[in-house]
Amino acid sequence: MSHLPTNLHKSPLDAWINGITGGDCLRQSLQEYQTLKLRETLIRAKKNSPFYREHLKDVDAQRIELPGGLQRIPFTNAAELASEQGRFVCVSQDAIAHIVTLTSSGTSGEPKRLYFSAADQERTLDFFAHGVATLAGNADTMLIALPGQRQGGVGSLLAEGISRAGVRPVLHGLIERAEETLQTVVREKATCMIGFPVQMLWLASQRSALAEEALTMLHSVVVCSDYVPGPLVQRLQALCGCEVYEHYGMTEMGMGGGVDCEAHCGYHLREADLLFEIVDPESGRTLPDGETGEVVFTTLTREAMPLIRYRTGDLSRFSANGCPCGSELRNLERIQGRTKGGVSLGEEGKISITDLDEVLFAIPGVVDFKARLVRGANEHLEVTCCLPFGDTHALSQANAALHDGIPAIGRAVRRGCLSVEVMAVSQPFAFSGEKRKIEVLTEL
Ligand SMILES: [Zn+2]
Repeated sequence: MSHLPTNLHKSPLDAWINGITGGDCLRQSLQEYQTLKLRETLIRAKKNSPFYREHLKDVDAQRIELPGGLQRIPFTNAAELASEQGRFVCVSQDAIAHIVTLTSSGTSGEPKRLYFSAADQERTLDFFAHGVATLAGNADTMLIALPGQRQGGVGSLLAEGISRAGVRPVLHGLIERAEETLQTVVREKATCMIGFPVQMLWLASQRSALAEEALTMLHSVVVCSDYVPGPLVQRLQALCGCEVYEHYGMTEMGMGGGVDCEAHCGYHLREADLLFEIVDPESGRTLPDGETGEVVFTTLTREAMPLIRYRTGDLSRFSANGCPCGSELRNLERIQGRTKGGVSLGEEGKISITDLDEVLFAIPGVVDFKARLVRGANEHLEVTCCLPFGDTHALSQANAALHDGIPAIGRAVRRGCLSVEVMAVSQPFAFSGEKRKIEVLTEL
């Protein structure tokens, strides 16, 4: 940790959470607060939700102690959320302030619906208001390159939340034309910006006087809403010449989950609203700090639709060493991938989009890529890289990185059961905002 500056500011989430839980010792008062809120959540869920009445019938809420007691509570997952839908809801129809419908990434095709009350939205606003203090203050203007501009959507919530902290929001929406977004940065005198990782890389890769002017104005960039490859953050940092922060969250968490601090060693989480655990994806056993497993969370203050031991499918671990910023909150390290979703290369193992992300985003010039595996007598992996500035050297680097940087690909190619083709396009791909994945085609 010797490379870290010595004058790091402690995450502002410590003071926020301490203000909620009270007490002299944050960790101890937080555990007592979480235990109380967990019991309240279990009791309310059993009383008001048809799904939880059955699901939690063997759980005696008053006897649950943290941390060990969590093991006695059954998990919930995305498939149940899609199939049971409104049976999770604990409030009457007129107490619902906002509904988000998410298309399912599973095979069932059933969309997931998340319901929020006004108080649920308020908790998220409060998190955004305090979380943004990590990187911006009342002299700042933040350009929000996220969807959800209508009332209650993520962009609109973030705008309202950060304005409480004195940060002026500019609701921009997704980046469609880089030049237009750069002009907005300059016109609005934005000093920070938040967006999807791939979109931010595309923006920061622009080469023009306008891009230079706009990027020089930014002192902080936040990436969120998708898997964040480490090499992408490093390139973004170099291209923008400024601090790059990461936010971790999903709609199920009430959109906000956690944000890293000046030490950039992992996410500090909104622990007064969400109780996080890491579990073994196979056995479901809770894992100690330092061990990698599936991220599971329980909402502690959610009124409309509490989620109890909800399996995210994300893989990460809690840092065993705490954070150099001095925060007493836990440090969830950057998400390392997903428990499911990789594609099999037979005996050679699996590959996933995150494996490809880690090697391809490390190559200067590659601002995005698409991958598809064509199954047949011989498997064929096609990777199309977006190289907007005709950097042909990047193409051979990408080819080498796929063979040398991903062991399963290297082995399958050497055994003659996989061929790899790397192509280039100059135009950026249309941005859907959906989780990226390796497409699989089966030859007839
Ligand atoms: Zn920290």
